[in-house]
Amino acid sequence: MTTSASAIDHASLSAATTRLSVDLTALAENWRKMRDLSGSARCGAAVKANGYGTGADRVAPRLAREGCRDFFVADANEGAGLRPLLPDARIYVLNGVFEGSFAQTLAHDLIPIINSPEQAAFWLENAGTRDYALHIDTGMNRLGLTPEQAAAHSQGSAPSPCLVMSHFACADDPAHPLNARQIKLFDGIRSCFPGIEASLANSGGIFLGAAVHHDLTRPGIALYGGEPVSGVANRLRTVVTAETRVLVIREAKAGETVSYGGAHSCTRDSRIAVCGIGYADGFHRSASGSGVPLRSAVPQGACGAINGVRIPVIGKITMDLTMFDVTDLPDGAINPGDWIELLGPTIPLEEAADAAGTISYELLTSLGRRYARSYLG
Ligand SMILES: *Cc1c(COP(=O)(O)O)cnc(C)c1O
Repeated sequence: MTTSASAIDHASLSAATTRLSVDLTALAENWRKMRDLSGSARCGAAVKANGYGTGADRVAPRLAREGCRDFFVADANEGAGLRPLLPDARIYVLNGVFEGSFAQTLAHDLIPIINSPEQAAFWLENAGTRDYALHIDTGMNRLGLTPEQAAAHSQGSAPSPCLVMSHFACADDPAHPLNARQIKLFDGIRSCFPGIEASLANSGGIFLGAAVHHDLTRPGIALYGGEPVSGVANRLRTVVTAETRVLVIREAKAGETVSYGGAHSCTRDSRIAVCGIGYADGFHRSASGSGVPLRSAVPQGACGAINGVRIPVIGKITMDLTMFDVTDLPDGAINPGDWIELLGPTIPLEEAADAAGTISYELLTSLGRRYARSYLG
């Protein structure tokens, strides 16, 4: 029997027990919002880690259509994958360059962000006058030349970089004193690179105001609907909706337990929705309703939602299956085959991340491969 490609897609979609939709119209709107907030600076986009898990091959071309011309990826392989989709864009490689990634960098016309004196020496010896960017560490102690090393670099014989940049450690917390220190250090070292474009602000940084926008901003999480400033209700649009299918509705008697380790004891006769999602899908085990260490620090585990009503996870989240307590829903309000939202219009990214003891970034980038993915807009 032969089956057409679309029939296979339809068959796999209808067989899926997890589905993910990515709203590209909302993503584009979020980017335009960041662009407008960036004032006269160009607004780029961080699309590393497969576009924060959302699918860089769909997200990056959509942003290019909006006018984005500066894309940030983590490594040269990510850049190589995007180059055919972004023929005219500048693609910057955040992890820089090393001997093993040199051929890939050149072949796909990527701009390495040089992160150490060793990377600088290697690039200048091998790449001649090709474009490179220079990362100056102002407070992360992660990647980048120290300001002293950057000053020495500017006085050497090396051709000038096309961009100097640095990265905030605490941009999500506008009151943190490290922000002012990093801004001062960056503005100081920029005087060694007159006329060279500069970039400092990630999503949170964009909200710190015009003084940190420079020539280019680099939003990531805000594009995908995350909260750029901690605890400030974001007016960004929801981009990612993750759902799981109800496989079975079962009844458990008061006193019975649910899931591995007998982690949950029913205090009443309960109705349980068993759904086809688990930690293998990035629905982290730490978000279990009970039986995991995090529950002693944060009493409440994750919730799902059906028709806007929250239903709590009970017991441990297992590899492929999760149980929700639906006892409080009216009879017939939930049935096998129904979809339960885990992330989306009812349950914000931050709420789901908090329940798992993590952050929106990690939640998005750990969304698994089993989801039937669809793109809107
Ligand atoms: C990931 C990253 C960004 C984007 O950060 P968000 O907080 O997601 O906006 C910007 N700059 C650098 C150097 C990054 O690594």
